Amino acid sequence: MENLMEKIVSLTKRRGFVFPSSEIYGGFANSYSYGPYGAELKKNIKDLWWKKVVQNRADMVGLDGPILLNPKLWEASGHTEGFNDAMVDCKECKKRYRADHLVEKATGKDLEGQLEEMTKVLKEEKVKCPDCGKSNWTDARNMNMMFKTQMNGFDGDVYLRPETAGAIFIEFKNIIDSMRVKVPFGIAQIGKAFRNEIVAGNFIFRLREFEQMEIEYFVDPEFKWEKMFEEWLEFQEEFAADLGAKKEDLRRYEHPKEKLSHYSKKTVDIEYKFPFGFSELFGLAHRGDFDLKSHSDASGQKLEYFDAQNNRRFTPHILEPTFGLDRSILVTLVSAYTEEKLEDGSERVVMKFPKKLAPVKCAIFPLLKNKPELVGKARELYDALKSQFMCEFDDNGNIGKRYRRQDEIGTPYCVTVDFDTLEDDTVTVRDRDTMEQQRIKIEELEGFLKDNLK
Ligand code: ATP
Repeated sequence: MENLMEKIVSLTKRRGFVFPSSEIYGGFANSYSYGPYGAELKKNIKDLWWKKVVQNRADMVGLDGPILLNPKLWEASGHTEGFNDAMVDCKECKKRYRADHLVEKATGKDLEGQLEEMTKVLKEEKVKCPDCGKSNWTDARNMNMMFKTQMNGFDGDVYLRPETAGAIFIEFKNIIDSMRVKVPFGIAQIGKAFRNEIVAGNFIFRLREFEQMEIEYFVDPEFKWEKMFEEWLEFQEEFAADLGAKKEDLRRYEHPKEKLSHYSKKTVDIEYKFPFGFSELFGLAHRGDFDLKSHSDASGQKLEYFDAQNNRRFTPHILEPTFGLDRSILVTLVSAYTEEKLEDGSERVVMKFPKKLAPVKCAIFPLLKNKPELVGKARELYDALKSQFMCEFDDNGNIGKRYRRQDEIGTPYCVTVDFDTLEDDTVTVRDRDTMEQQRIKIEELEGFLKDNLK
């Protein structure tokens, strides 16, 4: 399985999905660029999420807030003071680690947040440095994970937002005042977040610059939230299935009561079986009235809701389903990667993306490159379809090679224009998964693709 990650890293670079960033300058701190197919895949995942979460729901609205926000927000939310991870350095080789991760890996103990205990375990149990094998540690200490920057005309530090949620809470009043929303309702946002992770890694799983898709769902404090909490968890599992995740590769992890933030009634992570083990994909937290109350206290603005029907005023409670976009992409890549042995003994690698997420929906080939009548007809077809679907035209190399290339980028359908096409206006449509081919009339092709790409 370890191997699978290497195969995915290699395929996604070779085929234009994910590139290590700044490579010509020797790389840069585990950052990545989404190449042409990766950008398409990412957009398709975002669009699907937005459609399910905003477009299809009368109780949800969207938002697109800024990355740079008034730093008072991060003071009120507790991030300036407490958004810390524990780090520890190996005095021998100078490598830096997450202290809690080292302890957990070596001893199975979850000591998150307990600096002294972590230091004790690392030293007393002589936990070895994964890099040099020695055991000579500094004390574990906290590091704030927010990136600091400066802004013209503003005195003091400004932060790149460490989560998108903050930008949502501070627009609660504007949304209430400008939209006809009624509690219960939710605000959804997709956008970048920045965390100065002590160790980034596992490809696009842990990045310092990443994207989140977050929802703040506002409910009446007297609302019986348990059923809705379960429904959001089911929605998250359903979304993971939309990405291609198999049921058996998903599990729930409920945070034990003693580890919950003081305001949270319940927090559950949806974990996925990545090639490096089960790890958090999405999260769901009941945050009580902590966020609206904190921002209300700190800003002096009332962040309340007036229930006109019952003549009641209250601070709504919040359910927060959060989705990592880069981790979603990784799930899609991991679940799609397939190696198949074919009847003729050869092998193929095929990315079996859910069809609606595939970066390219349809590739159009003229059978032969040197026959202008075939090339012309295939171009015509490409021009007709490209406004409807992400299409590719390819006349390079033999058909077998062109199929292999499209298999590797997960294109559901390849359409070939051959000599029969010139006679009867039919084309060969080859299915990515079954590799079966069928003749379809050109006039029916668009309808066929529409029906089969849902
Ligand atoms: P972890 O325990 O893995 O650090 P977290 O519990 O800190 O994650 P949250 O604060 O709940 O994460 O963030 C919400 C979502 O954002 C996560 O479920 C995850 O999908 C995504 N996410 C968080 N940190 C990163 C990161 N460094 N790189 C990529 N995605 C991330």
